[in-house]
Amino acid sequence: MPYTENREAWTKGQGLWEHVPADTWNDWGWQLKNRLTKVEQLEQFMTLTPEEKQGCYFANSKLALAITPYFFNLIDRDDPSCPVRRQVIPQGGEMTIAPEEMLDPVGEDGHMKVPGLVHRYPDRVLFLVTDRCAAYCRYCTRSRLVSNAQDYNFHPEYEQGLRYIESHPEVRDVLLSGGDPLLLADRKLDHLLGRLRAIKHVEFIRIGSRIPVFLPQRVTPELCEILKKHGPVWMSIHVNHPKECTQALKDACDRLSYAGVPLGNQSVLLKGVNDDADVMKALIHRLLRMRVRPYYIYQCDLITGSSHLRTEVQKGIEIIRSLRGHTTGYGIPQFVIDAPGGGGKIPINPDYVERVDENEIVLRNYEGGLFSYPLKPGKAVPVEEAAHILDESLF
Ligand SMILES: *Cc1c(COP(=O)(O)O)cnc(C)c1O
Ligand code: SF4
Repeated sequence: MPYTENREAWTKGQGLWEHVPADTWNDWGWQLKNRLTKVEQLEQFMTLTPEEKQGCYFANSKLALAITPYFFNLIDRDDPSCPVRRQVIPQGGEMTIAPEEMLDPVGEDGHMKVPGLVHRYPDRVLFLVTDRCAAYCRYCTRSRLVSNAQDYNFHPEYEQGLRYIESHPEVRDVLLSGGDPLLLADRKLDHLLGRLRAIKHVEFIRIGSRIPVFLPQRVTPELCEILKKHGPVWMSIHVNHPKECTQALKDACDRLSYAGVPLGNQSVLLKGVNDDADVMKALIHRLLRMRVRPYYIYQCDLITGSSHLRTEVQKGIEIIRSLRGHTTGYGIPQFVIDAPGGGGKIPINPDYVERVDENEIVLRNYEGGLFSYPLKPGKAVPVEEAAHILDESLF
């Protein structure tokens, strides 16, 4: 059945927690404290499939189970194929490992200069500042360290990381990630951003966070003040399906935008979640309406136990082809594969070049029509002699 977007409705309300006073609901500490982390808690509200139940029991040794009440409300409890449900409720598939799968699929550990600091590209670093998230995505690339279910014992070393950046003048761009940096206390985040801002050669600071999606209540006026104070701070959020674009997320994005935070979105291509052109189109339209610029679509990394969520690379190419030319260019993300083994992000694009020869490049447009652009300049002649190609009325 093709996905049809309800263009009017932005989901709102407290759903199952209607009885909770609004200011309690809007307290991010309450949301964290009341996360659903056990099978028994989930089963109070829904019937899990046998596969989900298996997955939940296994989760403790792989990647913790945690879902905020806010995000749990977005799950269709009667539909095991619900695209929100597939992202956060474990499945039995997590217990099988394909030969191509890895614990560190994009080879981050090999580029870790000090604990938590990945220097893979010439001018920018990835700074992992916590191993905690508000909720856990079952396909997380950093399952090995996030939530510490695998006893990886990741301890972010701010001081070492900061000192590394201070002593490497080539680092002009710092990406804070984790885990989720916005789970740090205001005071800590303020300190960290202040320290980074004080480094002369750091000119670009950004945060990768799914907090606005899992826990929009965390985007408080106080947090926005901190981001504003150290700005410009850019932010990449992580939305995979239009159902996640609620009124609460929209409000959080407004607060961030008004604090001067440019917003981008990263999606992961996931089977049964967003491997569909209509779903992606609805998603990017919603993102644009929230002032969020779609940035990347990732091919799902080869993380252990993810085969039930991965799609073919061709699907991603097909989705980009279905968007380019058919809708707003601002809405079209770059499809990338983060190369297994540490090659970094490599862009994949549909091919619009039909053929190239000595004289011309022949291109296919979004409607399938063929157009030629010359590759060699012809002989230029004076204007009077070129009248046949100019509008006659000019003379
Ligand atoms: C994704 C990533 C970056 C940032 O890459 P951009 O393409 O600039 O967004 C930096 N370092 C690492 C290790 C990354 O994985
Ligand atoms: S929010 Fe990011 S770091 Fe946290 S579990 Fe999801 S993908 Fe992993």
